[in-house]
Amino acid sequence: MAPQLHLVVDWIRCRGHGICAELAPEAIVLDDWGFPMVKAAVPHDGERDAQRACDACPSSALTLVEVDVPVSPKR
Ligand code: SF4
Repeated sequence: MAPQLHLVVDWIRCRGHGICAELAPEAIVLDDWGFPMVKAAVPHDGERDAQRACDACPSSALTLVEVDVPVSPKR
């Protein structure tokens, strides 16, 4: 298993402010209505920005979680 960081959106809380996409554009893009679409895994060079986006979300709707992902054996 290898740990990866993922962003999770609480859709009940999210109000579509869009601040998160401004702070972490490498991990979040906005849909046509201004709601975030998060990439599957946060790139390593985007972890600090992703945490800043979570901290700045006015609705506390964004969380950074660590997920264990299976590693496929080398061939
Ligand atoms: S900043 Fe928070 S409330 Fe605004 S779009 Fe991003 S996750 Fe949703």
